[in-house]
Amino acid sequence: MSDAIEQVVIIGSGCAGYTAALYSARANLAPLVLTGVMPGGLLTTTSIVENYPGFAEGIDGTDLMIAMQSQAERFGARVKFGSLVEAVDFSGRPFKLTVDGAEVLARTVIIASGASHRHLGLESEEKLDKKGVTYCATCDGALPMFRDQPLVVVGGGDSACEEATYLTRFASKVYLIHRRDELRASKIMAERLLGQEKVEPVWDSVVTEILDPEQDKVTGVRVKNMKTDAESVIDCAGVFVAIGHVPNTQIFKGQIDVDDGGYVLRAEGSRTNVEGVFVAGDCSDHVYRQAVTAAGMGCAAAIDAERFLAAGG
Ligand code: NAP
Repeated sequence: MSDAIEQVVIIGSGCAGYTAALYSARANLAPLVLTGVMPGGLLTTTSIVENYPGFAEGIDGTDLMIAMQSQAERFGARVKFGSLVEAVDFSGRPFKLTVDGAEVLARTVIIASGASHRHLGLESEEKLDKKGVTYCATCDGALPMFRDQPLVVVGGGDSACEEATYLTRFASKVYLIHRRDELRASKIMAERLLGQEKVEPVWDSVVTEILDPEQDKVTGVRVKNMKTDAESVIDCAGVFVAIGHVPNTQIFKGQIDVDDGGYVLRAEGSRTNVEGVFVAGDCSDHVYRQAVTAAGMGCAAAIDAERFLAAGG
């Protein structure tokens, strides 16, 4: 990285980041995209994306992201892979970012840092991560360790229903453990799931421990009924946690206004409370969280950044 001041630095490389890169590249701003540790973002953890317009037969999530990256690069976007933004200083201009230990200066910044899977927060969950505990059925569901085995999905939203429905292809049985007695998921997803023979809902219940760290693999979950306090153990070979997402905005705290959930607050359009810093995608959206809405927000952020620069910002 040089001492030059970048016109546009984009933090993140999901649908929002790459669409912002495409638009700002086409505006001759040669944006610098810092991919973070998950190039392509959350969509690379899904298989077929069926609701991104323009792909009648659906498209593989990773293929879609690679295509977005190539499209942005074709017009002059520079993609820096794996780069982690360690700190930002938005107190004066140019903005200062610490990236892999080096300083990057920027006239405008587009935050498109996305969101990560929420964890249950159990010690045993962290110990058994990737050893039977996973956050993505489409990535891991077909692994041999899960074939013809009882599996647990935790959560009650659309993600949990989607994951559990998908897992019925491989599992001998799927337990859906939800902390209430009513699903948050959309009616169609809930009905599709609960109609499956292999699915057994476990209502009003929370997972208090994942077994068994001592064996270094998942053998079951300890479950507590919230209404009766009764405890039980469900044998299973895998735990799929699908309890929502948390925005990747920790490094912006104190620099940018965020809400109680950590989502970046937007003023008009894609503007944040700091002039010259714009935001797009899941790190600022807890309502829609779709690939196409993130892409739209990325487009808006690039246009706002371009106009800001053209006005002498
Ligand atoms: P969500 O709608 O926020 O649901 C999270 C679920 O996890 C809720 O049922 C919640 O319980 C439960 N939960 C949260 N924290 C928990 C904890 N600490 N312990 C136990 N349970 C916990 O998240 P999502 O399902 O990921 O969906 C996010 C958005 O993406 C939604 O807008 C959804 O419609 C969309 N989406 C759409 C599709 C699709 O259309 N194909 C697929 C996936 C997601 P409570 O219900 O009690 O709060």
